[in-house]
Amino acid sequence: MRIVVASGKGGTGKTTVATSLALSAGDFVRFMDCDVEAPNAALFLNPKLDTRKEVGIQLPVVDEALCTHCGKCAEVCEFHAIAVIGKKILVFPELCHGCGSCTLVCHEKAISERLDVMGVLERGPTATGMDFAQGVMNVGEPMAVPIIRELKKWNPMSLRASAKQSYADGRLLREDHPRNDIEIRDAPPGASCPVVETMRGADFILLVTEPTPFGLHDLKQVVGIARELGIPAGVVVNRDGIGDNAVEAYCAEAGIPILLRIPMERRFAEAIASGKTLVDAAPEYRAAFQTLLQDITARVAA
Ligand code: SF4
Ligand code: SF4
Repeated sequence: MRIVVASGKGGTGKTTVATSLALSAGDFVRFMDCDVEAPNAALFLNPKLDTRKEVGIQLPVVDEALCTHCGKCAEVCEFHAIAVIGKKILVFPELCHGCGSCTLVCHEKAISERLDVMGVLERGPTATGMDFAQGVMNVGEPMAVPIIRELKKWNPMSLRASAKQSYADGRLLREDHPRNDIEIRDAPPGASCPVVETMRGADFILLVTEPTPFGLHDLKQVVGIARELGIPAGVVVNRDGIGDNAVEAYCAEAGIPILLRIPMERRFAEAIASGKTLVDAAPEYRAAFQTLLQDITARVAA
């Protein structure tokens, strides 16, 4: 089961919810920090990042000696990233999406590809046996989506490593485990392409918001994306008790269930500021997150 934890705006407690949900979910959890521009879940989960891989897109490289300047590559490129001007051919790397269409249509085999490194993927286990992975985008790169796409693809193997780890530790074998395998994706903030890519292929979207006009505004945007993608969603209200009842009224009207409320408490803010997760700071919330997970599982099954 793949759960995305998202919020329309930064600072709502999205990573707080994602990390505590992961820590309450048992042995077979994959955690992916998809906020590749500013990943921070590792600060709370402290994984041992022992595997690294460079990622990016395949940029076309034209061999002028083979090129007949027929213009087919420029015609097929919907991003205008390659142009043929008289006897000159130009590639604009900042516009290229690495789709490979130009290479495919070139009958002269004049186009080869080179990896344009945009960032790295890092992965490793946490002390609790969780399989953790994150993407880190290079400073100044314009596109986060290719890194998130590679991060999502990089994960499936990890389950075997996680299962072996659990066996080695003398805990339950995967086959004996009562729950399904769970993947939790911590989404980037906002409501643009990186969020959409993080949500693609998910079974459930958990939307973290706060009961303020800003929280409501941004919640509506991510609800819109979840609906476009046809993925069921539920809401966690963080800092419950501040603001007003507008989020509650909106959720009731839109038919979106509020699955958990986390009150505004100074001790939570202090713990999180010092690098602790919510369930470490307030162990009584572990049961609430386990109930939340059961609720999500039932909704996905339904
Ligand atoms: S399709 Fe190939 S031969 Fe034609 S212009 Fe492009 S690179 Fe040159
Ligand atoms: S790889 Fe795709 S986006 Fe890039 S230049 Fe070729 S056709 Fe255009």
